[in-house]
Amino acid sequence: MEIAPRPSGCIDLHVHSTASDGSLSPLKIIERAKEIGLRAVAITDHDTVEGSAEALGYPPCPSLEILSGIEISARVPSGTMHILGYLLRLDDLTLRQTLKRLQEARANRNIKIVEKLQDLGVSIQYDEIRAVSGGGQIGRPHIAQVLVRKGAARSLGEAFKKFLRKEGPAYVARYRLLPSEAIQMILRAGGVPVLSHPFTLDAKDERELEGILVDLKEAGLKGVEVYYPEHGPKRTARYERLARRHGLVMTGGTDFHGAAKPRVQMGIGRGDLRIPYRLVEKLKEAKD
Ligand code: AMP
Ligand code: FE
Ligand code: FE
Ligand code: ZN
Repeated sequence: MEIAPRPSGCIDLHVHSTASDGSLSPLKIIERAKEIGLRAVAITDHDTVEGSAEALGYPPCPSLEILSGIEISARVPSGTMHILGYLLRLDDLTLRQTLKRLQEARANRNIKIVEKLQDLGVSIQYDEIRAVSGGGQIGRPHIAQVLVRKGAARSLGEAFKKFLRKEGPAYVARYRLLPSEAIQMILRAGGVPVLSHPFTLDAKDERELEGILVDLKEAGLKGVEVYYPEHGPKRTARYERLARRHGLVMTGGTDFHGAAKPRVQMGIGRGDLRIPYRLVEKLKEAKD
C-alpha cells in the first residue's frame, strides 16, 4: 500500500476547532500539525477567535508558525459567502464587540431551529446539542450530529438535506454582517481579509465571479482562498488567474473539521493538497 507523503514544510490556513464546529481542540490541532510536519497553521473558527487565541497562548514552537485567524459568514442574496481574516489583533475591541453580537444571534437562531425540529416531531432538546458541542460555539453541524444519534437522519449530510440546509424545513436565518462590514472589521483589527472557497458563491460563470471580486476588492478585500479540497485543477487555475489579474494574494487551506468532515484531513485535504509556505510570506506583505 502506498502511504501518502506527509505535507512537510507546507501550510494549512483553514482549520476549525472545538471553539466552533471542529472536533479537535486547539491544542490537539497544534499537536496534529506538528506531527504531520506543517510549517504554518491558522485556526479559523466561524465567528469566534477563542480557538485562535488559545492556540497562540501556548508556548511557541520553532517548527510550527501559528497565524491568528477567523472565518466570518457574510450576508449574500444567494449562495454562501465566508470571509477569512488573518494576522489580525484578536483583542481588538470592535472585533470582540461585533463577534459577541454575532454569537448572540447564533445562539438565538439555534434555539429556534430546535423549536422547529420539535414542531416537525423530532424529540430533541437544546441540552443534548450543547453536550456534543465541546463547550464552544454551537453550529448546525452539532445539531446534525444529534439528529444522527437519534436516528432522525442516517448521516450528517442527510441531516442537512432533510432538515438544516438553507430552505430546509428546520432552517432559520441568522443575523450576518454584510461582506463590506466583515472586511472592514478585519481591516480595523489589523488583519488581511480573504474570500473563502469562492465556489460556494454559486456564481454562474467566471465573469460573474470576477464582478463579485471587484466589488469585494473595492470594499477592502486583499486575498482569495485558491487552494482548497473542493477546487480541483480547473477551479484552482481560474482562481489563480483572477487573483493575479486583480492583485489579490492567494491563500489555501483544507477547512479541516475533524470528525465533523471525516474525509478531509489537515494539511492534505482529500489527500493531494500541498500548500506552499511562500503564501504566508505574501500574506504578511499584504498586511503592510
Ligand atoms: P452554521 O454556521 O451553524 O450555520 O453552520 C454552517 C456549517 O455547517 C458550515 O460551516 C459547514 O461546516 C456545515 N455545513 C453546511 N452545509 C452542510 C452540508 N450540506 N453538509 C454538511 N455540513 C454542512
Ligand atoms: Fe464549519
Ligand atoms: Fe467556510
Ligand atoms: Zn471553514
